[in-house]
Amino acid sequence: MSYTKSIYDYTRRKTVPVMFGDLAMGAAHPIRVESMTTTNTLDIAATVEQSRRLYEAGCEIIRITAPSIKEAEALKFISERLRQDKITTPLVADIHFTPNAAMKAAEFVENVRINPGNYADRKKFAVRDYTDLEYEAELERLHDEFKPLVLKCKQYGRSMRIGTNHGSLSDRVLNRYGDTPLGMVESALEFARICEQYDYYEFIFSMKSSNTQVMIEAYRLLASRGDKELKHAYPLHLGVTEAGDGDEARIKSSVGIGGLLDDGLGDTVRVSLTEDPVKEIPIGQAIVKKYNERQLLLGERIFEKINRIIINTGAAAEDLSFDPYQYQRRESVKVSVGNIEVGGDSVPRVELEVREPLNDSAKVRDEIIFSAKPYLFEGIKSEITNLTIASASELARVQSSLAEKFVSPVLAVSTSDFSLAASLIGKVEKIRIDILEQESFEKHRLSELAGTTVIEFSFVKTRATDVAVAEVLTRIALKCKAAELEKVLFSVQAEEIIYPYRRLAEAFKKANVAYPIVLRFDATKFDARAPQGYEAALVESSIQLGSLLCDGIGDMVAYRSTFTRGDELNLVYNILQAARLRLSKTEFISCPSCGRTLFDLETVTATIKARTEHLKGLKIGIMGCIVNGPGEMADADFGYVGTGVGEISLYVGKECVEKHIPSAEAVDKLVDLIKQHGKWREPSEVPSEVQA
Ligand code: SF4
Repeated sequence: MSYTKSIYDYTRRKTVPVMFGDLAMGAAHPIRVESMTTTNTLDIAATVEQSRRLYEAGCEIIRITAPSIKEAEALKFISERLRQDKITTPLVADIHFTPNAAMKAAEFVENVRINPGNYADRKKFAVRDYTDLEYEAELERLHDEFKPLVLKCKQYGRSMRIGTNHGSLSDRVLNRYGDTPLGMVESALEFARICEQYDYYEFIFSMKSSNTQVMIEAYRLLASRGDKELKHAYPLHLGVTEAGDGDEARIKSSVGIGGLLDDGLGDTVRVSLTEDPVKEIPIGQAIVKKYNERQLLLGERIFEKINRIIINTGAAAEDLSFDPYQYQRRESVKVSVGNIEVGGDSVPRVELEVREPLNDSAKVRDEIIFSAKPYLFEGIKSEITNLTIASASELARVQSSLAEKFVSPVLAVSTSDFSLAASLIGKVEKIRIDILEQESFEKHRLSELAGTTVIEFSFVKTRATDVAVAEVLTRIALKCKAAELEKVLFSVQAEEIIYPYRRLAEAFKKANVAYPIVLRFDATKFDARAPQGYEAALVESSIQLGSLLCDGIGDMVAYRSTFTRGDELNLVYNILQAARLRLSKTEFISCPSCGRTLFDLETVTATIKARTEHLKGLKIGIMGCIVNGPGEMADADFGYVGTGVGEISLYVGKECVEKHIPSAEAVDKLVDLIKQHGKWREPSEVPSEVQA
């Protein structure tokens, strides 16, 4: 794979270093954490104050919007005031549509971010064909408009970010490549080639989207194409745009950013939240922590100037069970666990673990019943609940306790005792057999497991290599096939699951095995009841499970943690939603706000959420300005966009259907619009509790 040295092992992609003033990025430098101010840039005191708060929170790079030349000029005073206060954090000017603002900003700040979709191109969603000649002529015009900024940045020693966003590609690129990862990459490369033409190499890239699958694919494609076609491998700024707020946004960002960091891609990150930007820093730090620590462990942290070299990632050709540039779910057969279908085209299922001690069967029963009821929203529940048992009598006690209450949730048990497992066939919906690596599993006769109960073979990895784990499970799978066992699932239990599951999927593909795969992740090492443990568990669970799901691997998620059961359910379903595989609630695509914002995004987002959060599967965009909002809410079903002070426009898809609505009426009008399009349900129509 050319975007990473190996998908089965961690290696950070080696880039040239790029300077943001005195701060070096890329190469072996730590992965940076950055943010963006939300104040009006012309309000210099407020912007300085917010920048100071960001600096104190540990923000390493501060971006400030410069919509026009006036704001670009204000950057001079903002920078001076910060430097007077000994705050040397590099500043980045955020530019859309206004090359003259970029030219001015380059005089005052360490880095200029431009958006290739709107730097010098039209963005009116016009549909037209460009002949090759017309396309070339447009590229020449682009070159002429961009060249002065390249030369100016070179003259002033400024770096640049070529920051492409899904949904804000130029009409030219959109008409030729579509709103696709390929279009995003082409758009960025056009600008990068102009930079290199003038021997300017101080730039980094970003490829953001609110859709984690699109974002992951775009960054991989850029690394693959860019590292081959350009003179150097340039650093990457990672981010999920319009992630929203609360845990949903933190989970979505962890899935997208963390998945790429695990690929070894990424040199700086921004978690964009529709909240106070200071809150973006701790979550950003939590996401990069493990990767920066890994680098320290590998002894690769070198702060001296690294000579510029043309990087070849040296990636060997690897067999892949998935297409890293286009989401496709791994093909599997469907297996029924009780009334729950797992695999095939079924949504990924959810299994949680009973925590109460099994000698208190009443407490265990209550826990199972609580877990199997919808939590907050329809469908958010433990669809299969597992008991880890030591004897058949433990199961029998729990089952009779459930029978007393006339409930029969889908129940599973787990054990490493093959004989116990075989004795329970037909008595429970699923049995997980834990295969301990020191034991030879080959001695067991799989025919003893034939029957109505689903068997999950789960390898408990402690020291075995990922290749060995995949080989053992593939041998068992082939034996199951030979014995015509159909109701079979496979899983791995390991501290880090991304690489072993990729190995397993690859081995299954080669052996033509289509049994469903259960993604097992145990987050109990984090104390989720303490604030830092909560965040660490949320981040790590999202990265481990989310990146596999985005690669199309996984038919069920089986999860253990120290979260409350409600938080645990929310987390797992939010990860499935963030990976776009199972929509169980409304998706809010809200921008983080910036100096262009025309209303209080945090308050309005909370109001819209309160009215619409029961509308399962609906995507609502809430964007602060008309300049970027309509494009960047990309695939939202409905959009609420600030168009002037106190004025809102409403969108259905990309079409603006109502303009200049006074903001006091706009949320009601949005609800009316959703009703007109037949997408509304009264909250009372959504069942809050369904008996298991
Ligand atoms: S959409 Fe939001 S974050 Fe983006 S430029 Fe507009 S106000 Fe700023």
